[in-house]
Amino acid sequence: MLKGKSALITGSTSGIGRGIAEALADVGVNIMLNGFGDEAEIEALRADLEMRSGGKALYSAADMTKPEQIEAMVADATAAFGGVDILVNNAGIQFVSPIEEFPTDKWDAIIAINLTSAYHTTKHTLAGMKARGWGRIINLASAHSLVASPYKAAYVAAKHGIAGLTKTVALECAEDGVTVNAVSPGYVLTPLVAAQIPGTAKARGITEDEVKRDVLLAAQPTKKFVGIDEVAGTVVFLCGDAAAGITGSNLSIDGGWTAK
Ligand code: NAD
Repeated sequence: MLKGKSALITGSTSGIGRGIAEALADVGVNIMLNGFGDEAEIEALRADLEMRSGGKALYSAADMTKPEQIEAMVADATAAFGGVDILVNNAGIQFVSPIEEFPTDKWDAIIAINLTSAYHTTKHTLAGMKARGWGRIINLASAHSLVASPYKAAYVAAKHGIAGLTKTVALECAEDGVTVNAVSPGYVLTPLVAAQIPGTAKARGITEDEVKRDVLLAAQPTKKFVGIDEVAGTVVFLCGDAAAGITGSNLSIDGGWTAK
């Protein structure tokens, strides 16, 4: 059912976005990759996605803090695939600090990448989806779109923001065959999470092992990191016919974290 459709996945050179790109390629979807990283590794990923999908895979180096680059990326995907059917707003960064010391440039970057980039990609893809009468927009939110943790002011603000953007856009295209949903993982052990362990240890004055055990997994009743494949599988499900009636929702994949 998804074979031959096309997906643009921001921040898909690593972690969860990469897992989503692979899972969508496995069901025959053409992929526009995006994100930073080693050129040769990205090319190897792109070639692998074409093998898996039997279709096309392209890469855009667009920086999600730059609106004109985002618009050009959408134009490139539209020209190559004839339209963007599935948009996954996944690019994200994190910075951990008490708010009194929070660097303003980090605040601005987190809001730009984790929230405002989704506004730009949605703005440029939605008209095409509506015209074709089919579309899927999936925003990577977080358990932090529902609850807060100390020292993550910008991230929590951006993720609460994207939950609101999701609901608003869902209402604006509810009659057009386009669904808009957020998925909200708990902790997934990706480079983004690994990178925040030292900062959290410093901010709380504890060791990095204590951060994993007593801070990250303390929040998750299952005491397990969520798998990238579990998040990717949920995204593929949301793209399918069985999920046509799900729109404006925020699906938790957080091992019970936000049930508490
Ligand atoms: P990651 O660090 O592994 O990957 C982030 C991706 O975003 C990379 O491809 C990176 O190159 C890209 N990126 C960063 N800045 C960019 C920019 N300016 N322009 C374009 N691309 C940029 O992170 P991840 O853990 O896979 O996170 C992916 C998403 O999932 C994020 O939105 C994150 O907030 C969300 N999330 C992650 C977790 C978790 O525990 N890992 C939990 C909940 C939500």
